Amino acid sequence: MLSLIKFPQVLTINQVPKVFQEDCIISGYRQPRSSAVDCILSLFQLTNETLNIWTHFLPTWYFLWKLVTVVLMQTAWQDSFTWPLLVFLSSCCIYPLASSCAHTFSSMSAQARHICFFFDYGALSFYSLGSAVVYSAYVFPDKWANSYFHQYYIPIAVFNTIICTVLACYSRLGMPFLQYDHDVTRRFPECQSPKFSKCLRVIAFAYPYLFDNIPLFYRVFLCSGEGCTDDETNMLHYNHVALAFLTGFLFATHLPERLAPGSFDYIGHSHQLFHVCAILGTHFQMQAVEQDMAIGRPWLTANSIPITFTNSMGPALVCVVLNCLVIALFSLPLLSGPAEKQPKKIKSSS
Ligand SMILES: [Zn+2]
Repeated sequence: MLSLIKFPQVLTINQVPKVFQEDCIISGYRQPRSSAVDCILSLFQLTNETLNIWTHFLPTWYFLWKLVTVVLMQTAWQDSFTWPLLVFLSSCCIYPLASSCAHTFSSMSAQARHICFFFDYGALSFYSLGSAVVYSAYVFPDKWANSYFHQYYIPIAVFNTIICTVLACYSRLGMPFLQYDHDVTRRFPECQSPKFSKCLRVIAFAYPYLFDNIPLFYRVFLCSGEGCTDDETNMLHYNHVALAFLTGFLFATHLPERLAPGSFDYIGHSHQLFHVCAILGTHFQMQAVEQDMAIGRPWLTANSIPITFTNSMGPALVCVVLNCLVIALFSLPLLSGPAEKQPKKIKSSS
């Protein structure tokens, strides 16, 4: 059946506007004004985005299966001890889904591309909050349970997710209304200072990750003696941390395509490897958290902060609402204005 479908021709880097260009990827670009149907069909055509889409689309279903299993098997709704796990598993479903949708529909227009990736950044922020909620409930070292840091940990994590989304969205186009409107579709900070823009985006995701992991790093790397929660789960945490750093390294360095531009356009470029490492890291993180939850339940129930709506589902809802507002703020200037002006402006800005 697929042989009956005529796929659009793929383009080289010089044939697409600057906003669609990726560092050291020379070929395999989709048409910059694809229809939604073309975007969906491109899942079955080898382009430089195809594996970016599939490497997050398939794991979405695996994580969704994990979430459904927990909801059905553990009667999660009645048991508040399970709520942080539900928040975390939801965030693990949403971030790869948002990412695969962003990569699928990012070639519809310059505006669509920016808005798609704003949602991608918002979903990653939500994942960082999901990690914080689940760490607070099950992963904190025993000796830090109920400390001041523990009590303020989730509110700070909520604040961090907003900073993260704002910084990441800002790194694409600058400040909405002040530095761009519907006519400016080039990547404003990236055009003027690409390194600053890249740096900003790395900080936007590294900072909440590092903050969320303070209790885990302390527990597995520094803590010794009594009250350190030193058990067999630590090996799973090591795997997750190693993969998380590899993920950050790939995102920041653009290896291997930087060493041989054009050689990894379709298979093996850094963004695909970044997706795969992120998913594997999340998988190990999920296993570690579930194990911590099962082993630690009696001690945590007796000694740690009680799990309620206000330290599990509540912060997740606040994070979703605030992130949607941030995304709307950055997207609105791109949506308003005459659409027919787009092609001309895109060309002039490339
Ligand atoms: Zn991606």
